[in-house]
Amino acid sequence: MKFATKAIHVGQEPEKLTGAVTVPLFQTSTYAQHEIGRHTGFEYARTQNPTRFAWEDNLAAMEGGVDAFAFGSGLAAIDALMRLLSSGDHVIMAEDMYGGTFRLAERILRRFGLDFSYVDMRDPANVANAVRPNTRMIYTETPTNPMMTITDITAISAVAKDAGCMMVVDNTFATPYAQRPLELGANIVVHSATKYLGGHSDLVSGIVTTNDEALAEQLGFIQNAAGAVPGPFDCWLLLRSAKTLAVRMDRHSSNAQRIAEFCAQHPRILATHYPGLPGHPQHELAKRQMSVFGGMISIELGSLERAVAVTNKLKLFTLAESLGGVESLVCHPVSMTHGSIPKEQRERLGVTDGLVRLSCGIEDVEDLLADVKQAVE
Ligand SMILES: *Cc1c(COP(=O)(O)O)cnc(C)c1O
Repeated sequence: MKFATKAIHVGQEPEKLTGAVTVPLFQTSTYAQHEIGRHTGFEYARTQNPTRFAWEDNLAAMEGGVDAFAFGSGLAAIDALMRLLSSGDHVIMAEDMYGGTFRLAERILRRFGLDFSYVDMRDPANVANAVRPNTRMIYTETPTNPMMTITDITAISAVAKDAGCMMVVDNTFATPYAQRPLELGANIVVHSATKYLGGHSDLVSGIVTTNDEALAEQLGFIQNAAGAVPGPFDCWLLLRSAKTLAVRMDRHSSNAQRIAEFCAQHPRILATHYPGLPGHPQHELAKRQMSVFGGMISIELGSLERAVAVTNKLKLFTLAESLGGVESLVCHPVSMTHGSIPKEQRERLGVTDGLVRLSCGIEDVEDLLADVKQAVE
């Protein structure tokens, strides 16, 4: 079965009792049992919920995992997979990463005895050099937020394999439609489902999948034992969103490509970061591991004053955190999403006061182009 068919059908079979073609919303906390010790297999909704199971089966099929585990947010999903580790373990992370992941690692997980190193993952040798005897996980995000840096998943997965550690990819920006890390050698994929998987800016959720049975068993144990599960309604919305993921990603990507090409040639935009541009330093790698390049673009406007002026002028791009919805958004990473990254590190990565991030929606591209044009001029 090809991707778009899986997205619509796996986990989303017609319901047995009535034939309803959408998965019912099981908004319940518990299930009646026949007698002591005899039940339907459903006991308590933190442990089992049919709507959540359907969404987990669906996402696992889209990513090529053996199972998936849904959580109340992307960060709850990342926190849960970090619980595969123990005090004393070391993790190598990408230095150019979602700010919240950095904050979780440094401000919380470090207190529990985990150690983190941050490296530039554009060169797999940097990752190999950072491996220590206690390294148990390599964690990356690609494309990264907000610099749109690409990690070679195949090459870094080979480093992880040699080092005997787990390879984790945050696939939020690409989605399984554009990129399937498990097929490229990763062991675990995590998503903020709040973004493209949800796709309509109406929920907060996260999910983890793996192609390793032993890891799946441990992740399932953590999901139930630590308990950061999502409510069934969010899972129901995600099942609905999955049905349009392929068409949305095609449109997000074609819109972003046109907007990035416009920005790249505009004299008042100093730099445009988009993996679909031939001028992106890792365009060839992006072409190898992604089928489309997604809807995210970062542009350098040169100063905070310009960033304020341009974002104030944009009409269709709403100034807001988050990304991946059908409506276009604009964000200022330094003041909004990346405040928790130290200034010195931020600037080295290119996350400057003049950097603005566009989440290109699926509106008519001519309207979006006209909006960007009037704002930058
Ligand atoms: C938003 C985001 C997260 C965190 O997800 P939440 O759903 O906000 O908790 C993690 N990684 C990436 C790449 C993100 O964009």
